[in-house]
Amino acid sequence: MSKFLEARLHKRHKVLVVDDEAVNRMMLEKILGTKFEVILAENGRQALNIILENKETLSIVLLDLLMPEMDGYELLEIIQNDDNLCHIPVIVLTSEKSAEVRSLNMGAADFIPKPYDVPEVIIARIARTIQLYVNTNIISHTQNDSMTDLFNREYFMEYAEVYDRYYPDEDMDAIVLDINRFHVINELHGRAFGDDILMKMGSMIKAYVSQNRGIACRSNADCFFIYMPHTDDHEAIYHEIGDGVMELMEDAKARLRMGVYEKVDRSFDVHKRFDNALLACNSIRGKFSVMLACYDLNMQKKEAYDERLISEMQKGLSEGQFKVYYQPKYDITGDKPVLSSAEALVRWAHPDFGVLKPDQFISLFEEGGLIHRLDRYVWDRVAAQIKYWKKTYRVTLPVSVNVSRIDMLEPDFIVAISDIVREHGLSPADLRLEITESAYTEDSDEIIEKVNRLRSLGFVVEMDDFGTGYSSLNMLSYMPIDALKLDRAFVSNIHKSEKDMRMVTLIMDIAEYLNLTVVAEGVEIKEQYDLLKKAGCHVIQGFYFSKPIPVEEFTLLVRDRAEDKKNQEL
Ligand code: C2E
Ligand code: CA
Ligand code: CA
Repeated sequence: MSKFLEARLHKRHKVLVVDDEAVNRMMLEKILGTKFEVILAENGRQALNIILENKETLSIVLLDLLMPEMDGYELLEIIQNDDNLCHIPVIVLTSEKSAEVRSLNMGAADFIPKPYDVPEVIIARIARTIQLYVNTNIISHTQNDSMTDLFNREYFMEYAEVYDRYYPDEDMDAIVLDINRFHVINELHGRAFGDDILMKMGSMIKAYVSQNRGIACRSNADCFFIYMPHTDDHEAIYHEIGDGVMELMEDAKARLRMGVYEKVDRSFDVHKRFDNALLACNSIRGKFSVMLACYDLNMQKKEAYDERLISEMQKGLSEGQFKVYYQPKYDITGDKPVLSSAEALVRWAHPDFGVLKPDQFISLFEEGGLIHRLDRYVWDRVAAQIKYWKKTYRVTLPVSVNVSRIDMLEPDFIVAISDIVREHGLSPADLRLEITESAYTEDSDEIIEKVNRLRSLGFVVEMDDFGTGYSSLNMLSYMPIDALKLDRAFVSNIHKSEKDMRMVTLIMDIAEYLNLTVVAEGVEIKEQYDLLKKAGCHVIQGFYFSKPIPVEEFTLLVRDRAEDKKNQEL
């Protein structure tokens, strides 16, 4: 094992004391013996032989300068000029100021003045020099990650194995810390900002592991590994490191996730242990309220399943496996509810897994950077459908599509959606855009700027899932939106809870003042419908009227609507 590893494992360091005077040797042996393993030499030549024999394990040389045979200067020069020896620090023992300077210039790491100081000072000085050399040597051996000064991944893995050998009975945890959507930080705030976060995170992790007998590395861009003795309190680790990191990223809207594989099974190799911790970490992607997960066996299966969905998306698209369903929206401001638009909701008719709901794949595609391909496909299909209804029934039925936050961060997003509308001969207002509330609060500046541009092009924008994000009611006044979709969570209890109903009434008042259309989603029963109508809600969507239905079925509703319209006109 290399000296660096031994040093890190807090083994006793080997110190060579070279002095021709027996009394000095004895004194240093006595002072240092409690802390270090001490080897003695009487002159330079003897010392050189010992150094050559122990070059892998020797931590430091304490060198007297004036000696017979080969003096200290000569030995120092040999050590400094030998590539195999120059990593060993030398401290000179001297009583002369001029000798101190000369030896420092020749490459000595430090000096200890004679007569000897209090033992603690000498020990501290030696320990500090060893530590310094261990660190710089690790760097020069590229065992460290240059950005964070933690170990690099290869060295870390090797070290973890050594750790196991030293502590064969210790329960160990493999921990992964990963910044979610780090690329967004780089995109929005620049690389320097991102690098700064990684460096600070690195030093927080380093401080943590050095106090808890652990080791750590940066595995890749924004992902860190920790290997340390088992603890039950993983929350505490998250808070100790995570809180600081989250604070740094405060306005960057990225999150830190932590995956733990606790009490690792030592029959797995180290890589596999961290694969498991990564699985745990990935199991919480898309779940915004959970930051920490521990590995269990089911994760293996889920991961394989998710990977398959990701890898089969493109094929699914080209084979037409994704189907757009339509859920009608009814205008309830008149005497009778009137079909006024619809929301397009995607389904995946997977050849092996059956029909999959969006919750099973949207967040996967978002994380995998694939969502824009699916969404643009959906927008295109919807636009083609609106055009078909126009042509066949002479009605224009606007449909709203879901626009993922990630879609909006794509540089060509506005061009792409405008192209789709134009290619099908529609006006932008026909394809309404549902943008979830949390997008406004997460990347507010960029999203608001893009929404403004979209609206100036004539697109109609609905704020989706209102009430689930963190925007306050007064934020609505400067949000560029045309309509508000009250989230199902708001609606579901209005018939049971007066408080919820009061909230809805309050929102209705504000919406009226701001001239916003209010759409209530998730309306399931008549009582909810009646209350919403009474409160002045404009549009209703939910199982009360219809579930999302396949396009053929929805087309029948469009046809009926067209006939009603014709009859009214007659
Ligand atoms: P969302 O935009 O909030 O869509 C409404 C969801 O509520 C739909 O679930 C719909 O089926 C469901 N729903 C409608 N009425 C009721 C009701 O009365 N009761 C109950 N319990 N549920 C109701 P779905 O279709 O599973 O979609 C889930 C989410 O997936 C959507 O939430 C949307 O965020 C996302 N999504 C769906 N299609 C797409 C898409 O093409 N692109 C993107 N980016 N996201 C999509
Ligand atoms: Ca929606
Ligand atoms: Ca919604």
